[in-house]
Amino acid sequence: MNRIHKKSALGQTTPLILAAHDRGESLLWGRYEEQVPLCAFTANGLNCRKCFHGPCRINPFGDQPTRGVCGADRDQIVMENLFQATLEGVLERARTISSLDESLSDQEFPDLDSDFPHQTRKTLTNHGILPVRKIQILAVQNSYFSHKGYLTKTLKDLTRMGLIHYGLLKGLGKYVPSSGTAESRYDPERANVLIVGQPPANHISAFRKRIQEGEQGQKINLWLQGVRNLPAFPSIADHGSPEMALAMNLDALIIYPGAHLPSLEDLAKKWEIPVLLGEEDKGIEWIAGQALELALDHQKKKGRLDSSRIPPSQPPRVSIFDRVRDIQEALSTGQIEGILAIWAEPNVKQTFFERTLTLMENALEEKFLVFLGGEAGAQLNLLDEELGRRMERKPANLPGAGISFLNTLRSQGEISEIVAFLRNLNPEKEFNEMPVVVSFPELSRTSTWALAVSFLSLGFTVQLSTQLPFWGSPSLSEVLLKEWPRISGGILLASPTVPDGQTQAQEIRSYIKSRRFAK
Ligand code: SF4
Repeated sequence: MNRIHKKSALGQTTPLILAAHDRGESLLWGRYEEQVPLCAFTANGLNCRKCFHGPCRINPFGDQPTRGVCGADRDQIVMENLFQATLEGVLERARTISSLDESLSDQEFPDLDSDFPHQTRKTLTNHGILPVRKIQILAVQNSYFSHKGYLTKTLKDLTRMGLIHYGLLKGLGKYVPSSGTAESRYDPERANVLIVGQPPANHISAFRKRIQEGEQGQKINLWLQGVRNLPAFPSIADHGSPEMALAMNLDALIIYPGAHLPSLEDLAKKWEIPVLLGEEDKGIEWIAGQALELALDHQKKKGRLDSSRIPPSQPPRVSIFDRVRDIQEALSTGQIEGILAIWAEPNVKQTFFERTLTLMENALEEKFLVFLGGEAGAQLNLLDEELGRRMERKPANLPGAGISFLNTLRSQGEISEIVAFLRNLNPEKEFNEMPVVVSFPELSRTSTWALAVSFLSLGFTVQLSTQLPFWGSPSLSEVLLKEWPRISGGILLASPTVPDGQTQAQEIRSYIKSRRFAK
């Protein structure tokens, strides 16, 4: 049970896994295997660490214990876990943003009103959820834990958190990297340095300056992990995990606070890759200088024997957000049948990118415009290559319009842009009336779940494919499925047993075909 059958759907990942295996490392899959069988209490959200009377756990099969020490039952405990995961996700995003630009922390959200379709705005206002303010994050709570009569209050606070999260992302709009800047600087001859975590903006500028103006010979490619919100340097196509990037012959690793895999330091040291902490007392100039020196030194020692595993960064794809008229036209003539936005980051419990590829393949066959974001966005070339193999397809463009069916979201700062784009396609329609689905075929971080809550809170239809710990309370999950449409219009497509990829693709197809953009 819960064993891993296939690690990744990307054929190009196999040599990296084998290279790690040859060095005695089984990476995150090996550590996952050591965890199984997973605790059924925890996996279903039936354990609680809210106070020090506990931790408590509820028997998932109806036997004792059915209540925590305080008397909380499975519904209350599951909601608490869901609530805390959402809050953690929103706070993680807030921390990332303030590390990027401290001044953003002091600013109130930009105006959100124009982002909502008419009915959604009205409903959220009637529920007292709009207007939403950043400071409200200090007041949200799972009131349902106190008394079950407060369920609606808690659901409103969940929605409020989703909108606060969206407001934070909207503030990042000015940090969307422009096409063709960092990407064009990639040079396969240079040493490669990977930054993980959350570097402050002044550190990014210092690195950039060093690279642009550095002495001859101090030439490196600087990579960031994932498609988050940082401009300036390209995201590395790490096949879904920075552990794999280490197997790609990096020359140095810089770890900042907020990095997600504590394994990286040990692994890098074992493989003799220099590691630096980004926030040392010695200051950024010293860190930048040291990183370049160590990386170049490492590259010299290593030689050029096997330095080709880091794929060139993907060519910048042109954003289509300013092509509303063309897309409206294509939708009305049936050249485009609908829109699928995918936000994906691998989860060790699922074959990396398998479900994402299945949804992409089906969507392209059905002539759905696809937007790909999250960690998957950084792997677009790899995914595209794999799709090409599966579908024997050529790049799919709209005839005459020069618009690709396959698009990426280059950073989380583009979330508000895609919302505005969809809204402009027909300002008269609610999001859940449009042939649009936002899918999370694989996810692992609470901030990504917070993004799903944001889309639900904006009134979108959201499909989930990773089992989240709220199915331990069937009645509560039922409420979530039924109540979100009432509060914001958001529709959650999720079930306790995640169906296979083809079934989920069929769910998207049926949903999209039941909607129209036009009146
Ligand atoms: S169930 Fe109640 S007593 Fe147990 S840890 Fe949670 S809050 Fe504390």
